[in-house]
Amino acid sequence: MSKVLIIGAGGVGRVVAHKCAQAKDVFTEITLASRTKEKCDAIAAELPVAIGTAAVDADNVPELVELIRAQKPDLVLNVALPYQDLTIMDACLETGVDYLDTANYEPLDTAKFEYRWQWEYQERFKEKGLMALLGSGFDPGVTNVFTASAVKHHLDVVEEIDIIDANAGDHGQPFATNFNPEINIREVTAPCRHWQDGEWVETGALKTKRVYDFPEGIGEMNIYRMYHEEMESLVKHFPTIKKAQFWMTFSDNYLKHLEVLQNVGMTRIDPVIYDGKEIVPLKFLKAVLPDPGSLGPLTKGRTCIGVVAKGLKDGVKKQVYIYNICDHEACYRETNSQAVSYTTGVPAMIGAMMMLTGKWRGEGVFNMEQFDPDPFMDALNNYGLPWTVVPGDGWLEL
Ligand code: NDP
Repeated sequence: MSKVLIIGAGGVGRVVAHKCAQAKDVFTEITLASRTKEKCDAIAAELPVAIGTAAVDADNVPELVELIRAQKPDLVLNVALPYQDLTIMDACLETGVDYLDTANYEPLDTAKFEYRWQWEYQERFKEKGLMALLGSGFDPGVTNVFTASAVKHHLDVVEEIDIIDANAGDHGQPFATNFNPEINIREVTAPCRHWQDGEWVETGALKTKRVYDFPEGIGEMNIYRMYHEEMESLVKHFPTIKKAQFWMTFSDNYLKHLEVLQNVGMTRIDPVIYDGKEIVPLKFLKAVLPDPGSLGPLTKGRTCIGVVAKGLKDGVKKQVYIYNICDHEACYRETNSQAVSYTTGVPAMIGAMMMLTGKWRGEGVFNMEQFDPDPFMDALNNYGLPWTVVPGDGWLEL
């Protein structure tokens, strides 16, 4: 018997609401709150169970506190934007409620992607006997759990990881991002960092390219190295990792558009004066790009996200590839959302389920790999994101 307050009614919020409604033995009461209440009501109307809806400005701590006091949830599940992480954590501390999110805090004026700000809440959550679970999406999230599972079941020691994220789907639009365009473009245009021998090595954004042969008929695709936040917590919690890299597929068409947008200044996140008013070019770009939520019925194909963990087993070099494949159209049939929102929303629901059922408990601020991966891996199989393990001899070199 537990009550969850979901904040954020975008693509991911829709999936979280659907999946919590499917697991009504755990989530006995659900409230969905967001800046625009109509979006919450539209999602509520799709669900097989009745849920509450509310308007909230999650940048405003007193407003959040008032909502949390009125709703009395056992857990606040944050799927608004990364800018709201700290205000929602503050409101959880003030009201004595556990917290979960899917993306690390970012200040509006710099695309930093660091856990520092949220890790600084460790003592305050601990003192209050509360738990915060950070990054319970797919990447970060499931990729952290896949790594923990590789270490628990397949390797004696992990030395290298490659996280490889493919979207082999197509929405037929000339240029669109498959989750919030502002967050997506900030991430993709940031300098690349990878972990090598105890330090971060910086290279230009999307400058390192490889070809990877994805399983189950997806085949060869170009992958580009970029920074991704889960590497920061994984190298902290698995200090034997000497090298960590994150790779993502991008089509030539996406990269061509992105290059032009960057060259003309449309991806800038600092304000410029237009017609006597301050506007942020990237926010304006978001307003003219297709809403990722509208891509659901158009997107066909599959995603394939996984981790190649390399290390030693009985003194011999071994690797294990753990991945999930998810079909955009099947996700849409189930939740009215494409696979990128689905692969984020399902693990957010499962993370909440782990906390509310007591399978994952602790006091303080935690990343996913700090808990036993087994119950989470079981739940992935049961709630729509089944995984495959491919053990191998030797190490893949990317
Ligand atoms: P969307 O832009 O589709 O949705 C964001 C929602 O948050 C919208 O409903 C928006 O309201 C609401 N919101 C924004 N600001 C506020 C505010 N100040 N107060 C209240 N509500 C607010 O984003 P997505 O659903 O695609 O992504 C949600 C989160 O998931 C993001 O943090 C993203 O980074 C993360 N993510 C994580 C992934 C992972 O694998 N870990 C992968 C993909 C996404 P309105 O509509 O009114 O603007």
